[in-house]
Amino acid sequence: MRWLWLLTWLLPWPGAAGAAGDASPLPVAEVAPGVFVHAGVHGEASAENLGSIANVGFIVGERCVAVIDSGGSRAAGMRLLAALRKVSALPVCYVINTHMHPDHVFGNAAFVAEAAGATVVGHAKLAAALTARERGYLERIRQELGEAAAGTRVVLPTMTVSDTKEIDLGGRTLLLRAWPTAHTDNDLSVFDRSTRTLFAGDLLFVERIPSIDGSLRGWLKVLAELRRPEPAYVVAGHGEAGANWPQAVTRLHEYLSLVLDQTRAAIRAGRTIQQAVAEVGASERGRWQLFDDYHRRNVTAAFAELEWED
Ligand SMILES: [Zn+2]
Repeated sequence: MRWLWLLTWLLPWPGAAGAAGDASPLPVAEVAPGVFVHAGVHGEASAENLGSIANVGFIVGERCVAVIDSGGSRAAGMRLLAALRKVSALPVCYVINTHMHPDHVFGNAAFVAEAAGATVVGHAKLAAALTARERGYLERIRQELGEAAAGTRVVLPTMTVSDTKEIDLGGRTLLLRAWPTAHTDNDLSVFDRSTRTLFAGDLLFVERIPSIDGSLRGWLKVLAELRRPEPAYVVAGHGEAGANWPQAVTRLHEYLSLVLDQTRAAIRAGRTIQQAVAEVGASERGRWQLFDDYHRRNVTAAFAELEWED
């Protein structure tokens, strides 16, 4: 059936090439053979960046392509699709969402069956989490992007992962792993067996302050497991991890441990949540981008999580 494979290279994929033609391709780098990544900017979503604030990418097999996170708006997804089409004319068989946050899932509409033919894949808990937040997420993206949010909608996964699952792109398999509650309650990582590249999603933040939207204690446990199987290269959800990923994991672990220890100590000392928010983790200011936007929220979340522990 080699001729059929050849044909997919020679002919434009129906629906995709034309639709993506209006969007300028996002810049992508090939970080390992057949593995492409667009580096998101460190900022909040806006009409200028179209919500492209997270790292997104795609992996090219012999039969088809898998997209890993679709960007922060339909427009961002179209730009990612245009970048993909510069590299490959193969069908996009999967869009894998690493978790529910808008900057990772709101490009889905550019890739699904009616657009580019892809099946959306996510953690077994992704659909419930996205549905619960759908209204708020859509309101916010419309505020942040204005008219550029046009066409952005929630597209739920139709293939789910509750433990691990392998998917085949033709001559290349990806290992998907659904994690217990950590950054969120629906974190999913993607490991490319051919190049040992790990897409960690927001289980790993580099440079940009992490946001705790699941469980602080859970996240610390998951971080210890992230290295199995041992990756050669790691794509973080935000910031560059690359081949220096062990240091990036250590840095994130330091921050989360410090928030855990100091919040726990504040609770035991009878401090109020307001006092804890003002005091905990102050030494981390200057070590993370967007610290003032998220750190206080992280301490608030940690306080709520740890308040009633034994
Ligand atoms: Zn996230």
